[in-house]
Amino acid sequence: MTKIRIGLVGIGKIAREQHIPVVIADPDFELTACVSRSAKVDGIDNFTTLETMLDARPDIDAVVVASPPATHFAAARLALEAGKHVFLEKPPCATMAELDWLEDAARRKRRTLFQTWHLRYAPRVADAEEWLKGRKVVGGHIVWKEDVRRFHPGQDWIWRSGGFGVFDPGINAVSILTRILPEAVLVEAAELFFPSNCQTPVAADIAFRTESGAGITAALDFFCQGEQSWDIELTAADGKMRLADSARVFAVDGERRNLPDSPDGVYAEYAPLYRRFSELIARGESEVDAAPFRLVADIFLIGKHISAPPLNLV
Ligand code: NAP
Repeated sequence: MTKIRIGLVGIGKIAREQHIPVVIADPDFELTACVSRSAKVDGIDNFTTLETMLDARPDIDAVVVASPPATHFAAARLALEAGKHVFLEKPPCATMAELDWLEDAARRKRRTLFQTWHLRYAPRVADAEEWLKGRKVVGGHIVWKEDVRRFHPGQDWIWRSGGFGVFDPGINAVSILTRILPEAVLVEAAELFFPSNCQTPVAADIAFRTESGAGITAALDFFCQGEQSWDIELTAADGKMRLADSARVFAVDGERRNLPDSPDGVYAEYAPLYRRFSELIARGESEVDAAPFRLVADIFLIGKHISAPPLNLV
């Protein structure tokens, strides 16, 4: 089988930690070229703009967009119009209409658009989804708290318009919630905390309501100095499930219940993501699920803006 030649846009943290090693290890793909304004990847062609890469390497089959979200639309649009398949990092775009446009462009060009939610591939998400099947959720709480200085040093784009602030990690929690909940969920209220020197929020408190009326609250903090938490707790009539540590631990009523065949390891999310990308290309299909993005957009629409002290990021 001919390998799918990949052009990777944005050589930052996630490209170096996941995309590059996973693409190199996957027999269906070949890492052919990359685009970065400053970085270089050894052993492949390096370009400073996507346009020059597309001109110089017309043999590239697919473009992986791993730059900040405000740049996703322009890159994905160019790639689709050049007839390439596209793997789109989360959050998918800066606005909902951009994502609709890309979905339509992929359909018109008959190319695969894989709009990814990487944390849905975390080891225990499938376990939680399975446990919740047929159960009615009566309440829940999400705690998503991390220190941006530890996990995203120097990523100034997070604090500019279109950078999502605390929703850069927080949208991952929403992507899991919308995958595992057996029913639809709406945003009822939200409070967003905007530091005076940032265009995006550093923290948020959210009240979700499920279709059948259960309340699910969420506490998000991107400047957490204490314990870091990435936990989702949902209560059903006969028990309480907990997905903890970015969906690496699954427990029911305090008892750990990781299924033995769940994947694990450092590439537990990105290796299956690339398997899925290869499968979608082979089938001539796209995969787009705007539900998490729509809920985050609703949080921005409905949320009360609360002023917070300036962030000291150094
Ligand atoms: P990052 O470390 O800041 O890297 C992004 C890269 O994009 C930079 O190295 C930069 O390279 C390039 N870039 C192009 N246009 C840019 C612009 N206008 N402003 C800033 N950088 C620009 O970010 P990242 O953590 O890899 O995140 C990239 C995407 O992956 C985001 O959508 C993020 O949400 C997602 N993601 C991140 C993680 C994570 O753990 N970090 C996990 C999953 C998904 P040049 O300056 O050399 O062009």
